[in-house]
Amino acid sequence: MNERKLNLSRLKGKIIAIDGPAGSGKSTTAKILAARLGYSYLDTGAMYRALTYFALKNNISPSDSTKLSALAKKLPIEFKTDADVNRVFINGEDVTEPIRSPEVTRHVSEIAAHQGVRKAMVAKQKQLGKNGSIVAEGRDTTTVVFPDADLKVYLSASVKERAGRRLLDMTKMGVSTTLEEQMADIQKRDAHDSQRRHSPLKKAKDAFTVDTTDMTIEDQVEYIISLMRSVLK
Ligand code: C5P
Repeated sequence: MNERKLNLSRLKGKIIAIDGPAGSGKSTTAKILAARLGYSYLDTGAMYRALTYFALKNNISPSDSTKLSALAKKLPIEFKTDADVNRVFINGEDVTEPIRSPEVTRHVSEIAAHQGVRKAMVAKQKQLGKNGSIVAEGRDTTTVVFPDADLKVYLSASVKERAGRRLLDMTKMGVSTTLEEQMADIQKRDAHDSQRRHSPLKKAKDAFTVDTTDMTIEDQVEYIISLMRSVLK
């Protein structure tokens, strides 16, 4: 779809929320969609990852709910876009790459499950989206962070497909891993994220579900734009 055909004035100021499990294509789709619409892009997972990275670096146990909740409230996490890359900073330190490490990935779901952590992060996310013109993605952006979003999308894909995508990402980052390891990791995170007590990953009643197993990123972006055209009046 040609972006010049989009009626941007009609699409101004909206909140688009996209949820789904690991490897469903949320991040890349949301990033491209935001760029096309001239919106900001909010990667809520990167916030939980940044907190996890900082906690591990400072020997805070992933089970220490009190310390983690206090840290989540005060940790200055910032996003800056540089040459199309969404960079993440903590206290001015660029943590874009280290927050994707296997160690952070292993612990992030446990840390993200603490109620106090979620409360602090959700408050920051709501603040970041208060002026609209935002594409947010994560696990609870359609249900808890932006329950009144103008368009809600739930992306899914088979475990094998999602693990294959992660394997490709990891290989690009120079991490040695296998499809089996990625499938096990994804299944563990899926279980943790969807079974936790506080804001579990689930499909919002009014979200459009898109199975991305056989879709390219471009297909996904185009599909969401077509939804916007039909849903946003
Ligand atoms: O999206 P990404 O895979 O980077 O997210 C990392 C982890 O952060 C997820 O597995 C989940 O545990 C947590 N997360 C969350 N709520 C969000 C976004 C991410 O609990 N809105």
